[in-house]
Amino acid sequence: MDIKPGGLLREGWPSFFGAPRCLDLEKLEAQVAFLGVPFDVATNDRPGSRFAPQAIREASMRYNDLGEGWLDLERGVSILQGVTLADCGDVDIRVKPLEDIYDQITEAVGQILARRAFPVLVGGDHAITFPAVRAFQGHPLWVVSFDAHLDFTDEYLGVRLSHDNEMRRIAELPFVQGVSFIGPRGMVNRRAPYDEALKYGARVITAEELAEKGALALRDLPPMERIYLSIDIDVLDPAVCPGTGYPEPGGLSYYQMRKAIEFVAGLGQIVGLDLMEVNPTYDPSGRTVRTAAYLILHALGLAIPARERAQKRLGKRQKS
Ligand code: MN
Ligand code: MN
Repeated sequence: MDIKPGGLLREGWPSFFGAPRCLDLEKLEAQVAFLGVPFDVATNDRPGSRFAPQAIREASMRYNDLGEGWLDLERGVSILQGVTLADCGDVDIRVKPLEDIYDQITEAVGQILARRAFPVLVGGDHAITFPAVRAFQGHPLWVVSFDAHLDFTDEYLGVRLSHDNEMRRIAELPFVQGVSFIGPRGMVNRRAPYDEALKYGARVITAEELAEKGALALRDLPPMERIYLSIDIDVLDPAVCPGTGYPEPGGLSYYQMRKAIEFVAGLGQIVGLDLMEVNPTYDPSGRTVRTAAYLILHALGLAIPARERAQKRLGKRQKS
């Protein structure tokens, strides 16, 4: 009997969507680079998101790339046909000062960008988004955060780099043109971060607005040339995605989330993506990790063609 790797469900070592592994970033050739970040020490409560990169890898193997991309049946279109993917493994997270870990993350994302690949980070807690975005310095960037929470606390109890601070730190980066929040909700026991986010000029579209008006709720978002898209899985209704550390009542349905991502992808060119705060410890049915894998594919299917078109335009301009 022949053993033929590549087509079987869950065959071999897990990798994101069955992508070949590339553990040496200097040799990266693929157009899309997945990077796991098994880090959850910047979470205040309910740790466990460090287990998410491997759990989402495993879940994604149900949708292994068989060489023809994927049919997005609801849109009737094929996505990611002929696009090369690589699983770059995980950032080597150990017990050491946070700043050192963040430097490692920035360096890894910087290497992926230097190889002209599209980075997809799979966390881990949301604090990781700050060192990830930092790697994009040199070009103006908008950050769109899908999250039940603002994560805009400046400092609390002396902490400035937790998963409640990263959007504030990002807003301070000189090349970041703006931060928009989609999906915040709940009862919050400190008002200051909300007021400060509005004062900074952030657009805040609450989960309830989106549930009531659909994607129309997003129509005031400005055009954005280059977008970093950050998805905190807790933006979704915990009935849909229970596997997260900070579930909040309410939240988006899977379809509301899909439509909102489509709307954001129409505002500009998505140049990087992360999916954070999945906590497999609270995901006994596995539906959170599976939804996470779907959302990554959906966002990539929208981002990569736009990126290719932009690169072609740039190439033409440089030749002429
Ligand atoms: Mn968050
Ligand atoms: Mn959150």
